[in-house]
Parts: sequence; C-alpha cells; structure tokens
Amino acid sequence: MSKKKRRPQPVPVDGLHNIFDAHTHLYSHKDSDAALVERARAAGVTRMVTVGDDMEESRAVVETARQFPDVFAAVAIHPTRAGQLDDAARAELEQLAQDPDCVAVGETGLDTYWIKHSPEDTAPLEVQEEALRWHAGLAARVGKTLMIHNREADADLLRVLATVPEQKKVMLHCFSSPLEVAKQALDRGYVLSFAGNVTFKRNEQLREAARLAPASQLLIETDAPYMTPEPFRGQRNEPALIGHTWQCVADVRGVSVQQLAEDLAPTFTDVFGV
Ligand SMILES: [Zn+2]
Repeated sequence: MSKKKRRPQPVPVDGLHNIFDAHTHLYSHKDSDAALVERARAAGVTRMVTVGDDMEESRAVVETARQFPDVFAAVAIHPTRAGQLDDAARAELEQLAQDPDCVAVGETGLDTYWIKHSPEDTAPLEVQEEALRWHAGLAARVGKTLMIHNREADADLLRVLATVPEQKKVMLHCFSSPLEVAKQALDRGYVLSFAGNVTFKRNEQLREAARLAPASQLLIETDAPYMTPEPFRGQRNEPALIGHTWQCVADVRGVSVQQLAEDLAPTFTDVFGV
C-alpha cells in the first residue's frame, strides 16, 4: 500500500448502482451542484435529498431539486439558528414545504453541543424546542417526513417528539446516539439514517444500531460536506463518497452492498414518497 495520501474516489467503484444519499448539503459545497450530481451519479447514486438550513438555503435547495430529476429537497431553519424562525420565515417555509420537489421538513431538532461551545451564536434550548414543535406541525400539515437533527440532546428530543402531532415519518438524520436511544427510536417507528461516522473505529455502538434496525427503518446519508467516511476522514465529503458508508453498513448486516441497496430502496420511497 502506498503511503501517499489518496484522493477521494467513489468506492467501491465497480458495479454499484441504485444507492441513495438521504441527507446531504449540496449548497454548502464549494463545487457546483451540477458537478456534485454528476460525480454522485457516476458512483451509483440515483436519488439524493439536499437540505436547506436557513431561508436562503431552503429556497436554493428547492430550486436545485427542480433542476435535477434525481435530487429532492428538505427545508427548515436549523436548530442552532432557530432564532431566525420569524413570521416571514414561517410563511415562506409553509409554501416551500408544499412544493412537489420538497420531500421532507428538516433539519430541525435540538442541539446542546453548540449551546455549550458557542452560546452567543446558538439559539437557546427553549427557542430550539419551540421551533422543533413548529416544524413538526408543518410536517404533519403537509404530510411529509420530519427530518431530525440531534446533537447531545437525546432525552429532550425523545420527550418533545412524544408530544408532537402524528407524523408521516420521523427520520433521525446522522444518527449518533447510544444504542439504548436507537432501540427506543426503533420501537417508536422512527427511521435511523447513518452517516460517515458509522465507519469510525470507535463507533461500535452505531454499527450495532445499524445492524439491528429493520430495513424499513434504515437509511444511509453523507451529511456532506461534513462527516466524511473512513478512509477519507478529515477531507471534504460529497455524495460520490457514500459507497464507503454503504459498504460498512452492508458488512455489519452480513449482506452485499448491492443487496443492501435493494433492501433499502423501498425505504427511501416510503420515507420521501419518491
Ligand atoms: Zn445536515
């Protein structure tokens, strides 16, 4: 093996087709949407959901979804920016969420990590909770999946989600919580979506959760440009690199990547309606 630093390549490169990326941020990448989509297609990605984290991004992701038949949008104000959810933002999100190319409301949720590490720039927890409840109401009204961000807020999140209106589906994006939380979430019917951190050596509990989840409650995502899977950890992530994460989840479930792609394709359709 060469010691030279490898450039990111879609891996595995041979024969992979009909995989998806259930949560990505095309808008946050330095490359154009067209370049990212083209490389993703070459890596076997046939469907992806691009996520807006504020109003500017939410408008942009719906536009992107209109341009590419294999790209779909999710719109919301990110929990750390929940203070931006004013009346004008609510009115516009109501419209955007009804767009046929918008398949989910999110990411919304709770984030105590940034409250601890950057309190000046982060909405307080009670503001985040109110925004989460509003987004959950919107998702229920438009009949689309509620896409959840959770960073170090397991107990509060489970408490709030137990009391929101009934949802089409609740998807826990970039699932990173302990196994016990995974089991509770699966019992409630939530869908766990795993990102590149499932490949990190220390995250044995995440791999166990990915092994336990029924195919009907399992998705795979990049959360690009963050959460780059091994062996490219530390580099900028993009949908074309998602094969590594698929491979890792397939390995823990004891199936081939292509079998896993077949097993999970209906889940993507079930969750996003496309
Ligand atoms: Zn995200």
